[in-house]
Amino acid sequence: MRVVVVPQLRNSVLEWPQVDSIVFYCAERAETDQEFLSAASSVNRLRLGSFIRAVLRTDVSLLELAEPMWIREWPRQFFLGALAMTLRSLAGRPLLVGVYAIENLDGNQRFTVPAFDRMPRLNAAAARVIALAVDVSAFMVVRRIVFGTPQARANYAASLPRTFRRVDSIVIPPDTALCRCVGPVENAETSRGVRYVQFLGEGSPRKGLHTLLKAWADCDDLAADGWRLRLTGPGVEAWSCDSRSVDFEGKISRTEVYSRLAAADVVVLPSERQARWREQIGLPTLEALKHGRFLVMSTESGMSELLRHREDVIMVRPGDAATLAMALRDAARRSGALRSLDLGGVHDSGESREAVWRWLGRGGTESQARG
Ligand SMILES: [Zn+2]
Repeated sequence: MRVVVVPQLRNSVLEWPQVDSIVFYCAERAETDQEFLSAASSVNRLRLGSFIRAVLRTDVSLLELAEPMWIREWPRQFFLGALAMTLRSLAGRPLLVGVYAIENLDGNQRFTVPAFDRMPRLNAAAARVIALAVDVSAFMVVRRIVFGTPQARANYAASLPRTFRRVDSIVIPPDTALCRCVGPVENAETSRGVRYVQFLGEGSPRKGLHTLLKAWADCDDLAADGWRLRLTGPGVEAWSCDSRSVDFEGKISRTEVYSRLAAADVVVLPSERQARWREQIGLPTLEALKHGRFLVMSTESGMSELLRHREDVIMVRPGDAATLAMALRDAARRSGALRSLDLGGVHDSGESREAVWRWLGRGGTESQARG
């Protein structure tokens, strides 16, 4: 049995396997699917009382916290970790604390303070102090880390060296194998009608929407061939452009996300770095690959090292509209022989989650039995 604390309730959390887990979330997100949430009985809003009851259960051997480099969340996570460890040592049954880490923005940038943005030297000093505080506190509670990407591992080694040297760690990349819902190769002669370049994600500049709209304005030839750009996600409906070949669509349900993936030939995720943010993985990246879609992504994602040699992925520099336009044309041309999706099928979920939990919690029950 494990207790998992997540800062924000992503829909992917609701798709985790629920057996043997008690999941607490600190805040919902705009994307949170309420229908999904009410069906997930082991997923609860964080309350201190229920958290304490959960970690004191005799069958709980692992506490998974959010990663230390998520700086605004870490003080709460550290408090919960230290509290749980203290209560469990008093009860004579030590608790293992583990983390799944995907942050790939360097600590020198990640730990800067918005108020000091105009004073670079002061900000660099502030970042060093914060990094030390995070490193020492993480050193005290975290014992095991599963890194989702090799980039995250290298980042922790450089940004939180004390913690990195102390913990047991491993890299377990997210699962990008084809989902079991993906059907046989479609007859090449079948007409698909309208063809879509699909963006999935929040409607914010860090997801590269400015660049994408600028690039699409250069793709008149695609629009003339019947291609449309569809932008889907919370906040996207507030955007607009002159082109009539663009659809802006706000938040949709998970089921609808799968139908957008099924209708898309190309998925595009041109994320761009901001002052204190860099794309970690980008869930739609995984969803596109798991469903056999051609993917155009920026090199900002922590997945870029792992995916750079794939034939169904084109990697572009962030913020470069001309290159992105070329990549979209290239993708449109190469996406012809895509597999079709069986929409009635069941989707895979949580496979790498299971692997993460297996590794974080390994030996937990045996050492408990010995104790
Ligand atoms: Zn699927």
